[in-house]
Amino acid sequence: MGSGRAGPGMVDPRDVPVGDVYITLDEVRIVLDRQGRRCVRCGAPLRPGLTYFDLRRPVICGGSRTPGNVEALCPSCHRRHMRRIRELLAMHQRR
Ligand SMILES: [Zn+2]
Repeated sequence: MGSGRAGPGMVDPRDVPVGDVYITLDEVRIVLDRQGRRCVRCGAPLRPGLTYFDLRRPVICGGSRTPGNVEALCPSCHRRHMRRIRELLAMHQRR
């Protein structure tokens, strides 16, 4: 147990959805402990059900789907983050 990360196409049912990525409960705990259970952007305390996990560096920008590239955000920082990702995606598609 706890061995082997879920890769693309191998999603464990207990995994937490992270935008376009999935991380395991172990990885969720690693990220939360690293951040002291606070939003990495604004420092607001993170609450269960109101915590969003996003890739710090999106996959389209060369980011990896590993805990080191995942950050936990509060709902408002998550919204801001997703808006930025959409802008990045639009820039990529224009090329
Ligand atoms: Zn925040």
